[in-house]
Amino acid sequence: MTVRARKRFGQHFLHDKNVITRIINQINLQPAQTMVEIGPGTGALTFPLLEQVAKLHAIEIDRDLAQLLQTRVPADRLTIHCVDVLKFEFCKHFESRLNVVGNLPYNISTPLIFHLLDQASCIDQMIFMLQKEVAERICAEPGSNEYGRLSIMVQSQCQVEWLFNVSADSFSPPPKVESAVIKLYPGKHTCSSIKDRKLFNELVRTAFSKRRKTIRNALKSLVPEQILLDSGITLSSRPEELPVETYINLANALQQVRQS
Ligand code: SAM
Repeated sequence: MTVRARKRFGQHFLHDKNVITRIINQINLQPAQTMVEIGPGTGALTFPLLEQVAKLHAIEIDRDLAQLLQTRVPADRLTIHCVDVLKFEFCKHFESRLNVVGNLPYNISTPLIFHLLDQASCIDQMIFMLQKEVAERICAEPGSNEYGRLSIMVQSQCQVEWLFNVSADSFSPPPKVESAVIKLYPGKHTCSSIKDRKLFNELVRTAFSKRRKTIRNALKSLVPEQILLDSGITLSSRPEELPVETYINLANALQQVRQS
């Protein structure tokens, strides 16, 4: 049965068997983990995943696709949550640790990454296909053109790993952009050292809301100059030059001053 891809749901179905195998090979499911797929669509990843796991959960917004898939796999093997993943509360829903995979809908990829970061406390590993430009921003190093708020927010909570590029002709219909697969390991980074995550988020947002300003000017309204100096920051440096750890240290220093 041919399925018409719905643009509003960012549907681009993966048909390249080599890419599918490479993604599946990256999954390292531990016995205590629950496997969750975001956006199973017509099942390009779902069926090979079901060869690896006894029980799979999938989150799919498209009712027609969810119904179609459920007719092909019994509910004791595949539970489909027919909801918007942006509203799905992973940690409330599952009691076990999670291993999450997905060829993500590109139209919501950035808000979805932020949503998943909020749920990172119950997730061990995520493997995602994303538009290459977003994957590059997530994995970017300080000083590069791609480095910014998204890089810092993800890397402050996850170890990130670039896996491979995927060309547009691996999908039907082909997206207008190139794609890439990345792996994120929440908890395997510095998140525990952030004392006040809300303040950290505010600091990073403020730093990058004034692109091309110096860090001193960008943070003028939020951070007294002396705290920047005490944190060893050169006042003339640009927000995109400072490593993730510097933002964590700065947020912690600011929190300490506010508390005292
Ligand atoms: N996994 C399939 C594949 O690789 O061929 C489909 C991937 S397609 C890029 C993205 C999938 O995410 C589609 O099935 C789409 O319906 C679903 N989707 C889009 N927005 C969603 C949302 N907000 N919540 C849950 N699923 C969503």
